[in-house]
This record gives sequence, C-alpha cells and structure tokens, in this order.
Amino acid sequence: MANTAYPPSYYAASANAAPARPVLQETLETDVCVVGAGYTGLSSALHLLEQGFRVVVVEAAKVGFGASGRNGGQIVNSYSRDIDVIERTVGKRQAELLGAMAFEGGRIIRERVARYNIDCDLKDGGVFAALTSKQMGHLESQKRLWERYGHTQLELMDQRRIREVVACDQYVGGMLDMSGGHIHPLNLALGEAAAVESLGGRIFEQTPATRIDRGPNPVVHTPHGQVKAKFVIVAGNAYLGNLVPELSAKSMPCGTQVVTTEPLDDELAHSLLPQDYCVEDCNYLLDYYRLTRDKRLIFGGGVVYGARDPANIEAIIRPKMLRAFPQLKNVKIDFAWTGNFLLTLSRLPQVGRIGDSIYYSQGCSGHGVTYTHLAGKVLAEALRGQAERFDAFAALPHYPFPGGHALRVPLSALGAWYYSLRDKLGV
Ligand SMILES: Cc1cc2nc3c(=O)[nH]c(=O)nc-3n(C[C@H](O)[C@H](O)[C@H](O)COP(=O)(O)OP(=O)(O)OC[C@H]3O[C@@H](n4cnc5c(N)ncnc54)[C@H](O)[C@@H]3O)c2cc1C
Repeated sequence: MANTAYPPSYYAASANAAPARPVLQETLETDVCVVGAGYTGLSSALHLLEQGFRVVVVEAAKVGFGASGRNGGQIVNSYSRDIDVIERTVGKRQAELLGAMAFEGGRIIRERVARYNIDCDLKDGGVFAALTSKQMGHLESQKRLWERYGHTQLELMDQRRIREVVACDQYVGGMLDMSGGHIHPLNLALGEAAAVESLGGRIFEQTPATRIDRGPNPVVHTPHGQVKAKFVIVAGNAYLGNLVPELSAKSMPCGTQVVTTEPLDDELAHSLLPQDYCVEDCNYLLDYYRLTRDKRLIFGGGVVYGARDPANIEAIIRPKMLRAFPQLKNVKIDFAWTGNFLLTLSRLPQVGRIGDSIYYSQGCSGHGVTYTHLAGKVLAEALRGQAERFDAFAALPHYPFPGGHALRVPLSALGAWYYSLRDKLGV
C-alpha cells in the first residue's frame, strides 16, 4: 500500500494539532464531491460552502499530504508563465481577465487567514532575485507588464538595494513584491480544512477515489464507500495517478526537494534576511528560500528526477544553499524531503470540465500556492453558473506531453537540462 504518512518535513514536525479524520465507510449524497485535500480542493470546498453548497472531500492520504503541505511556503503571485505568453496564446478579453486575476490568489490567502483565524506564520514580502543583467531586464519588463494589469505595488531593486534585503553577493538586482510573502504551508492547509468543517463540509482521509462514474449524476467510488454528487471537482494534481486518464496524458509529475537547517542564532538569521522576506532567483530551475518562525532557513532548489532519501536530498541541495550563503557552512540540516508538483508543457495551468459534471484544475508547474487558491474560487463560480473567469482559464491550450507515458520523463529531463545550461551560460 502507498505510504500515506506526511514526509519527514519541518512542516510535519511543527504542524498545529489537527483532528483524526475518518475513512469513508458509507454512501453519501452531496452537491459537490472534491477529490484531494490540497489547496485546490480545500479552496474549492471552502468557496462552495460559503455559497451554500453541500461538500464532501475525499483525500487519499491526509490533509496537505501533497505539494500543499510540503512546498517552500512562498506566496508568489502570477502564473508560472507570464501574461505576455498568455496574451499571445488566447484572445484579448481572456488575457485581460487572466491578467487582472494574477495577484488575486495572494489576497484570497490573506482573507482566509484573517477570516478563519489561521495560525500559519504569514509574513509579507517576496523578492525575485536576478543573477544576470538579462534576468534583471526581464524583471523590468515583467514589472511594466504587471502594471498594465493594475498591479503597481512592485519595487525594482539595484545591486545595492537588494543587498539590504538579502545577504547574498550573487545578485545584480531584483524586484520586491510586498503582496508576495510566505506561510507555513501545512498549517495553512490544516487551517483551511478546519474552516471547511466549521461550515459543515466533511473531509475523509485515507480515502482514495478509485473510480468516478461519469454522467449527469457522477459517483465517486472509494475502497469502503461512495459519494453520489451533482458535481465532482478533481484536485489530485501531481498525486492523482491515472484516475482520470485525460488529465494524466497532458501533464507530468516532477520531484523537487527542500531542506531545512537547524535554528540559526538570531544575529545570523537577521543578517541573511533582515526584513524576513522570502526570495526566489530567476533561473528556470530556480533556488528559493526563506526563514521559518523559529529562524531556520528553508531552502529548495531545482528539479531532480527520482531523489528520495533525505541524505541524497541534502547532498543535492546543500551545495546550492552554500553557493548562496557560504556563511552557513557549519550549519546542520535538520530536515530534508521531496514533493511533487505537476508540470504542463506550456507551464500554464489546465482548467476545464469533462462532460457537464466533472471539473478540474491542475498543473500550475511549480508556482501554485496563490494560483490554487484562485482556482478554488473560480471553480466555485463556475458551479454557481458564473463561468466567465473559469472559461478564461479553460481557453488556455492543453498540450499532451510528447512521448506519452513512456517518454515524457526523459524528454522533460532533457528539457530541464537544456534550460539549466541556459541559466549557467546566462543566455
Ligand atoms: C517541494 C515543493 C516546493 C514548492 N514550493 C512552492 C512555493 O514556494 N511557492 C509556490 O507557489 N508553489 C510551490 N510549489 C507548488 C505548490 O505547492 C503546488 O502547486 C500546490 O500546492 C498544488 O496544490 P494542489 O492542491 O493542486 O495539489 P496537492 O497539494 O498535491 O494536493 C493533491 C491532493 O490530492 C490527493 N489525491 C490525489 N489523488 C487522489 C485520489 N485519487 N483520491 C483522493 N485524493 C487524492 C493527494 O493525496 C493530495 O493530498 C512547490 C511544490 C513542491 C512539491
């Protein structure tokens, strides 16, 4: 049987208390059955419950077991590809809608944290750090682009200014987004799950959906029960497997790794990130890091296919961390873990419906903390009959992965190698 315990992460070790949730062992009838209790599923459930729908969530493992409980915790606005790509891909009206929504996910998170009193170490301020003048030029045009869609809170930083917010000599400049920031991701998911239940939603853990009967009255089957619903939302992302073959054909799970140091002394922690902002660099295979509440550095980097055991993960990530911060050479790593995000060929999310009753959102390709919160809202709007914003996402092209199941991993690894070479050469 698959391992359904949380990975040995800093987040699992510092999680807020949560109730044991039952396995589904009966037949239930509801309005919406949500498959997966990550941010996509929980945000959908919460928005739907707020609008009076009855909701049942089935989760194969535990709330936040997937990427939502193991990510870098960075609230990064916009999408994994930017709006200029979207402008070239879809019509003007859709691009306008998607551009206007690019910073909404971060606002939704803050609204949830405030309304449901979620204790998840929320901090404002995210930095995009440029390693080359080409990347700096890209940040400048990105700022102009985002401003065209009304997002005007961004500050460009030259080399001197970025050194004031991060003690790393590698950067030529950067951009500060005070509507970005960071959270304890698992505690955000656990808080959202509690909010779902406070509104009468039901969440079943250790309850994988094994089959979905499609049609006007879909039924979600699980090993010991079933849920009869008017609508199903599929929110399993990189952990979905082949439950919905149409979805697995056009996306690819990718492993990415994170380490967490021992707690740093206050002076060292403050010297690294004096304002406690989070940072990600602008490489295609990017490094990202931030401090935790107890002053550990959480550092993630790159995409590595297959790394699994913690010693192996530390060997991969520690050199990246020391390249950014040689001053940490004597610091111990306390936690190392891996998680999967879902890559699409366009690196844009895939949103849509299968028939009239099955809805999905997946594949935010690495930047999903904000997008998934927005996705839940947009899916809930669509189920309520207001589908304009949902349709704007659904219009984004969904390409199948070249090579199908057998070849998509080697081809994508080759693609990742090509882009990391570009990063190294600064082209
Ligand atoms: C290591 C790592 C670091 C990251 N860092 C960042 C970051 O700093 N900032 C950022 O914006 N993004 C980051 N991401 C991406 C971000 O975490 C994801 O995009 C986001 O959490 C996806 O949420 P989700 O709900 O769609 O999927 P998930 O959180 O993966 O949730 C899917 C859930 O569905 C369940 N499930 C799957 N199949 C079934 C089934 N058949 N039946 C029932 N349940 C099922 C799974 O068990 C899982 O709990 C990172 C990802 C990883 C892996």
